[in-house]
Amino acid sequence: MASTLSHISQEELDYYAKVPKVHLHSHILGMVPADTLLSLADKNGVALDSRTPEELYRYYNFQRFVEILSHIAASIQTEEDYSRVIYECVERAYREEHVLYSELAVQTSYHLLYGSSYQQIIDGFSDGIRRAERDFGVQARLILGLNRQLPPPIATHIVRQAIAYPSPYVIGIGLEDFEGYGPPEDFAEAYSLAKSEGLHRTVHAGEHGPAQNVITALTRLEGERIDHGYRAAEDASLAYRLAENHVHFAVCPTVSSRQGWLRPTGHIIKQMYDCGMWLSINTDDPAIVGTDLNREYALAARYLGVGRREMTGIARQAIDAAWLSPEEKAKLRARFDREMAEAAL
Ligand SMILES: [Zn+2]
Repeated sequence: MASTLSHISQEELDYYAKVPKVHLHSHILGMVPADTLLSLADKNGVALDSRTPEELYRYYNFQRFVEILSHIAASIQTEEDYSRVIYECVERAYREEHVLYSELAVQTSYHLLYGSSYQQIIDGFSDGIRRAERDFGVQARLILGLNRQLPPPIATHIVRQAIAYPSPYVIGIGLEDFEGYGPPEDFAEAYSLAKSEGLHRTVHAGEHGPAQNVITALTRLEGERIDHGYRAAEDASLAYRLAENHVHFAVCPTVSSRQGWLRPTGHIIKQMYDCGMWLSINTDDPAIVGTDLNREYALAARYLGVGRREMTGIARQAIDAAWLSPEEKAKLRARFDREMAEAAL
């Protein structure tokens, strides 16, 4: 059943490539194509463990995944590198996936670990976003990723840096990485500080960890969105409550399938959808896992058992969950409708 459900035709991919989208959950290091990694590593004299794209991004456990992220982070060294990486991400997303707006997660601690300063990271990424906005007429903003595998004071320190060096491009924070470590409550200080400074808040929860993490993320951390959140759908009464409260879940079909959320009875996102939970479709780490947003939409349609009209509704509703002003959202909705009509979809 899993393989039938995962087969997507070129016609479906071509259709979803034309649908305008917003992208709320993807990590920048996981969006860097292998050929860009090779080019940056060569430029900066970084030794990689392979020269073959398939080998470079082959992962079999979380430890290997972290190793891959480390290679990519080590290869991005100058402000120009940061600018190039994000410019190319936004360009590709616009040209190939029709992404009009994205909120991209910065794996802050990886970059700091490899010697970049906070200022250098943000200046470089901001420059790339500005250039992409000028060249393609689309917007992108940054979410500061907080690594839950590191001690919580590091997360607080990153939020303090964001406050000391404010940027219009940095709009929020997001607790991320392997949920077997760092329960959300440990990061309450970083989150309350972020809230007091007007930064938005998302949390990876209920992916590898218990449903309780979703509740804690919403209550103790005052999270405004949840990344993944699958575990919460296993408890129907909780799922209905989350739906009633209009909590947004940024889900990722391919990555969740690989983690076991595609079951013989169907994918967990169908359970979420059937309970009325509010979902957006996202990629997580597309270059490493070998997917893109078009494929994730086609897969979601398959897993949810819905048609193209419902998927258009899901794509448009993601705008509501974006961290934009009401005026910017209204403009984006108008553009979405106009471009759907122009593409005769
Ligand atoms: Zn993620």
